Amino acid sequence: MAGEPQADCLFCKIVAGDVPAEVVRETDTTVAFRDINPQAPTHVLVIPKVHYRDAATLAAADPHLTADVLREAAEVAAEDKVDGTGYRVVFNTGSGAGQTVWHAHAHVLGGRGLNWPPG
Ligand code: 5GP
Repeated sequence: MAGEPQADCLFCKIVAGDVPAEVVRETDTTVAFRDINPQAPTHVLVIPKVHYRDAATLAAADPHLTADVLREAAEVAAEDKVDGTGYRVVFNTGSGAGQTVWHAHAHVLGGRGLNWPPG
């Protein structure tokens, strides 16, 4: 169920501390940690602590929490000093767009040139 921790969800396990992660920021509602397979010098995932399967479900259910995730993405970019040159915030939504973990997350990518359109 949306909002409830899911026993089989990797990112719920990271929130619970049951799976280790390199956490860079944490708030009451969000956790930010470095991606295990970074695609750029800065590649951090920002997630809501509560479980929503994707960004669309999160946005529909809790706009304030969605804003928390976006605010934290900006904080991560500032702390990694990629905000000056520019960075990208990506929510892969659905398997056709490359979503592989079914807990809403923002990718924060920066520290190198980023092509447009993305692949
Ligand atoms: P998606 O493909 O769903 O948009 O993004 C999922 C991301 O989670 C991928 O970039 C992948 O590298 C990352 N990821 C998968 N497993 C782990 C893990 O155990 N720890 C961390 N830190 N990242 C992970």
